[in-house]
Amino acid sequence: MIHETETNPADISQRLQMVQRRIVKTCVNCGRDPDSVRLVTVTKTMPASVVRNAIQSGAATLGENYIQEAREKCRELSDMPVSWHFIGHLQTNKAKYAVKLFDVIHTVDSAHLAAALNHEAQKIGKIQPILIQVNVGRELSKSGVAPEAVHQLICDIAEYPHISVRGMMAIPPFFDAPERVRPYFRQLRELRDSLQSTAKTMGISLTELSMGMTGDFEAAIEEGATLVRIGTAIFGERS
Ligand SMILES: *Cc1c(COP(=O)(O)O)cnc(C)c1O
Repeated sequence: MIHETETNPADISQRLQMVQRRIVKTCVNCGRDPDSVRLVTVTKTMPASVVRNAIQSGAATLGENYIQEAREKCRELSDMPVSWHFIGHLQTNKAKYAVKLFDVIHTVDSAHLAAALNHEAQKIGKIQPILIQVNVGRELSKSGVAPEAVHQLICDIAEYPHISVRGMMAIPPFFDAPERVRPYFRQLRELRDSLQSTAKTMGISLTELSMGMTGDFEAAIEEGATLVRIGTAIFGERS
């Protein structure tokens, strides 16, 4: 359980503002436009009442990891003007719900999954924005496509008219020192840069870099992040 004092509305509001200030400060210090970085408030495990408080305090983009949990929250919060992003591992058999619920899906790592999303998006007349998840640390335990396979995956997905590739996402290996994570952020940005011109020829603009969490988002912004996914700094430790 999250401790009561950590999820009361005033605390959430204060922590959210603090995170937003840190994002702006980092942008200013490294010469980036603060509007080029969007905070994805990660709400996994948080009940709808807590998420509602966060939205009322200014959270405009939410990140959820689990389809079933998100379905319930989306329903309870359907009156709130907020953008939902999927950041968890997506199984092909949940593609239907992912397309229905989420404005952006950050975790596409196979042509097979993209085909399922394309099929479901086509059924409801949607063009689904997605990011390609890259396994920058080459960890067996993690999802994501290997860096050298991203080019082919983009070519494959370019064939799907109901999928719009917007960029890349990574969950680097865990280190408690942001400077040790930084090389992975840089690797993702460099990979994006190297594929940008080829992608352009297929009508794809790799604008978004989804990288950086509570412990390392400032380094991620310095390396080019456009979407930072932050939970703990806003809601406290999850159980
Ligand atoms: C939980 C989660 C986050 C948020 O991590 P914090 O350290 O709580 O900020 C970000 N990205 C993904 C993919 C997650 O699963």
